[in-house]
Amino acid sequence: MTVTQIVDPTTEEIIETIELVSLQETDAAIARAQRAFLTWRTVEPADRARLLRRFADAVDADLEHLAAMEVRNAGHTIGNARWEAGNVRDVLTYYSGTPERLSGRQIPTPGGVNLTFHEPLGVIGVIVPWNFPMPIAAWGFAPALAAGNTVVLKPAEITPLTAIRLGELALQAGLPEDVFTVLPGKGSVVGERFVTHPDVRKVVFTGSTAVGKRIMAGCADQVKRLTLELGGKNSNIIFADADLDQAAAATPGGAFDNAGQDCCARSRVLVQRSVLDRYLELLELAVRDFHCGDPSLEQTAMGPLVSAAHRDSVAAYLDDDAPIAFQGSAPTGPGFWFPPTVLTPSPDSRVFNEEIFGPIIAVVPFEDEAEAIRLANDTDYGLSGSIWTRDVGRALRVSRGVDAGNLSVNTHASVRYWTPFGGFKQSGFGRELGPDAAEAFTETKNVFISSS
Ligand code: NAP
Ligand code: MG
Repeated sequence: MTVTQIVDPTTEEIIETIELVSLQETDAAIARAQRAFLTWRTVEPADRARLLRRFADAVDADLEHLAAMEVRNAGHTIGNARWEAGNVRDVLTYYSGTPERLSGRQIPTPGGVNLTFHEPLGVIGVIVPWNFPMPIAAWGFAPALAAGNTVVLKPAEITPLTAIRLGELALQAGLPEDVFTVLPGKGSVVGERFVTHPDVRKVVFTGSTAVGKRIMAGCADQVKRLTLELGGKNSNIIFADADLDQAAAATPGGAFDNAGQDCCARSRVLVQRSVLDRYLELLELAVRDFHCGDPSLEQTAMGPLVSAAHRDSVAAYLDDDAPIAFQGSAPTGPGFWFPPTVLTPSPDSRVFNEEIFGPIIAVVPFEDEAEAIRLANDTDYGLSGSIWTRDVGRALRVSRGVDAGNLSVNTHASVRYWTPFGGFKQSGFGRELGPDAAEAFTETKNVFISSS
């Protein structure tokens, strides 16, 4: 039996020991999920909808418990962790509206009737990273279950606790056994088996671009369906005509939320040169106000990084010769702390081009709209970004010009469960959330019935 020790990133204390699922156990769970699929797909739409609403209610009743668990396991601030548990509830509620609405079409065809059906795929394998354990799990499992599939889900090895709890809540809510199974284990064992097992009909992967490419290659072998949500190096583009106070005040939240461990983090800040100096003065004040500390306290804006290994990987970026403009503060002593950090590097530096996944931003000036768009697109990624301007025409032009899936104007908020989310280029493909996500867990079947 292999076990893993779960560490609280705020205190470095071991909080739990978890048994890791083996290859044989993974195969057995997939076989049970395949059997459960045969009945789950036939559950009447209204009953499937009711069970998902009960699951949402169970999450809501457990919200404080789930949130406290995420503070301990992942070092998320209590405010964020409550939002994340609430997001699971809301995503379940939203997709509980799907079963009775997953309607096909009737297409005019001579000599009979032509109908389309959205058939569920079967067993769906969801692979989740450690940075947002609850929401990313729900974005996969909720629409998949709503469309009539069963789900096996692998949380990240270091942050499995809330996913395990969600599995318990699903059963308490009355979902039949084996419809939703959480399998804590290693990526190289459980995750890879989702890719190679012929009864897993689709993989939903969120994580690094390196692992995503490998999964994509593996899925090719069985022409397995796949959604990829990978990394990002997202631009926050600030024009001289923006409300500069607002843009500067919002910059830390857009980049340092979740300690920068966010694929949507606006870690590249592009500022029109004529306002650069004023912007940096305002930003320095905002960064010093962005309180990094004990994540269980309400006033904390940012907690620790998730692990010692990840802190080392973030800190290694400061070894480069990119100039530090200023840094905020972080606690000393136990905990994987890293202070909010602002760099002013050249556009060809590593910190400007690689996803750091920590609280480091790179500020680079631009001259005009064309250069801003060129710099924002000069990356293999294309997940999110923000545009700050008071000129509506410019906001539209730049939004259309930036190659990324999720853009926001005069705010960094671009994730909502009722609007589509996903990446361009090497940030992935497929869209989660929004009105169409459940269809991505179905095949369209076309049936012609002759009237002669
Ligand atoms: P990761 O190493 O790619 O791991 C993600 C998940 O894949 C984990 O559950 C991991 O399991 C599993 N895994 C690892 N190797 C695997 C394999 N060979 N086959 C199948 N599964 C495997 O990424 P991470 O380090 O957890 O997360 C950080 C990265 O994810 C960042 O680059 C970030 O940008 C990206 N990310 C993207 C999004 C998005 O929505 N686009 C969201 C969050 C994170 P183990 O835990 O056992 O290694
Ligand atoms: Mg990894």
